[in-house]
Amino acid sequence: MTLTGARVALLTQHGKERVLSPALLSGVGAMVEVVCGFDTDRLGTFTREVGRRDSQLETARQKARIAIELSGHAVGLGSEGAFIPSPWGIGSWNVELVALIDTRLGIEVVGMAHGPARHVHGTARSIAELKDIAMRAGFPEHGLVTRPDGPEAPGAVKGIVSWPSLRAAFRSARAASPDGTVFVESDLRAHFNPTRMGTIARAGADLAARLATPCPACGIAGFGWLESVTGQPCSACGTATEQVRADIHACVRCPYREERPYHGAASPAHCPWCNP
Ligand SMILES: [Zn+2]
Ligand SMILES: [Zn+2]
Repeated sequence: MTLTGARVALLTQHGKERVLSPALLSGVGAMVEVVCGFDTDRLGTFTREVGRRDSQLETARQKARIAIELSGHAVGLGSEGAFIPSPWGIGSWNVELVALIDTRLGIEVVGMAHGPARHVHGTARSIAELKDIAMRAGFPEHGLVTRPDGPEAPGAVKGIVSWPSLRAAFRSARAASPDGTVFVESDLRAHFNPTRMGTIARAGADLAARLATPCPACGIAGFGWLESVTGQPCSACGTATEQVRADIHACVRCPYREERPYHGAASPAHCPWCNP
């Protein structure tokens, strides 16, 4: 049994089918169908009204399960993003997970992508300060959210994508703010943030590539990377270092695993013996 021709239910309010549907269709011949009837904001919002209760992966899984429940299809797809500090120390980093659950095959397969985020926030008192934040946010291609005062204040206006509506939202927020400040931030919902949508597209392509890879032992779809293991030997003395030694690829159903070693050796600079 494969995913070719399967109807895959996707729970989204934010247009993610635009990128996930082509990925699954061209990758494995599956057809994505959008499911409505559940407010995904109940599982967490980027604007902090609802905190995410579970991990990013568990939330993606939950969305896939809800999609299956609501559609009656055997296969469901859920996507969840997270924003973390950039590994380079400047700016914000976006991690996207896309989880596919196939109840016929009894498997869960996860696609992942990450990259720099278009994610800014700041406080504006004047149109000039507002413009500065908007330029950094990639506005108006990337949407904005305004609210009086600070990040936790009520009265947010979301999904702003034009200069006239931004100025209008700014003026009413400033009028409602006791000290005249307006908190402005990126609207991180996928359909308002093309940079994020691009990362979701890459996560979808990663998922499709996994789904197109059968397990060499049992033939089930979804074979791929599970983890990287450290212990690469030092080039000078052979001591195991904290550098990555190999990638482990694993089946999503049977115990079959493959170790794919990295070539070469670690620099003595990373060696606990040569460079303690
Ligand atoms: Zn060494
Ligand atoms: Zn297997």
